[in-house]
Amino acid sequence: MCLLKIATLAIIGLVLQGIASASPLPVKEVAKGIFVHQGAHEDFDENYHGDIANIGFIVGDDAVAVIDTGWDIAVGKALREAIRQITDRPIRYVINTHVHPDHIFGNAAFSLDNPKYVGHHRLPAAMQQRREAYLRNLQQQLAQAADGSALIQPEVLVNDVSTLDLGGRKLTLKAWATAHTNNDLTVHDDLTNTLWLSDLLFVERTPSIDGDIKGWISVIEELKKLDAKLVIPGHGAVSSDKDASLERQRQYLQVLLDDVRFSIKSGMSMTDTMEAAANSQRQAWVLFDVVNRRNVNIIFPALEWE
Ligand SMILES: [Zn+2]
Repeated sequence: MCLLKIATLAIIGLVLQGIASASPLPVKEVAKGIFVHQGAHEDFDENYHGDIANIGFIVGDDAVAVIDTGWDIAVGKALREAIRQITDRPIRYVINTHVHPDHIFGNAAFSLDNPKYVGHHRLPAAMQQRREAYLRNLQQQLAQAADGSALIQPEVLVNDVSTLDLGGRKLTLKAWATAHTNNDLTVHDDLTNTLWLSDLLFVERTPSIDGDIKGWISVIEELKKLDAKLVIPGHGAVSSDKDASLERQRQYLQVLLDDVRFSIKSGMSMTDTMEAAANSQRQAWVLFDVVNRRNVNIIFPALEWE
């Protein structure tokens, strides 16, 4: 073997070792071949370690699809390691459910697998628009540990409904109208009738709005019409009662919408509204104060023009 070949192999070995060195992310098999890592309920502003979102993967007879990759490349590598402990089947797809950084900054951990990155047709524009701010925040939070984390644009875009075949199981992907964000994508596994809702459903953690509150309430009504045995939220525990979980979230959004509309009609300031709106829901949710205030901050100016 020539020296160049040996050197090349050594470099490949080091690269692979680098990928394999992460310790595996804890995952739970919630349905046959569907593995979920449940993130912790922490906020960006307080006690934040990055691992807050539910991410995971689905294993078919021929291939694996990753669904969201975590807050940074380290979380992504740990997820990859978890996959490799369970199967050596190729990682053919990396699906991003929406643009939020806690879900997609681990994308680069899968580059060497050469997967197809998949997302909502509006995801590339959203990534483009936020790339700089997201990278700046990540560097502030992680310093050098942020190196290697990147937003990788999807090449497979879902306009309405698309299917992916993993061998022995089909995934149905649906691109939704503006709700949690303007680029929410859900994944339905036909084999187990599991619906991966990601941030279209928050369980326990206060739902955060970055799209359109009224749109989200209508999407919830659409989601209620779907049949699913199990739903996987973007934050919080997996639920076998889709409609109850969605209804709980709808109530929060509806109360918030009604309260903010009432404040605007009564001439209340946005600052006072941030304190008062949706107070009746405070006990029902984790991280209520910080997330609810941000929600008011986002929807108040938009609703003033109704
Ligand atoms: Zn989100």
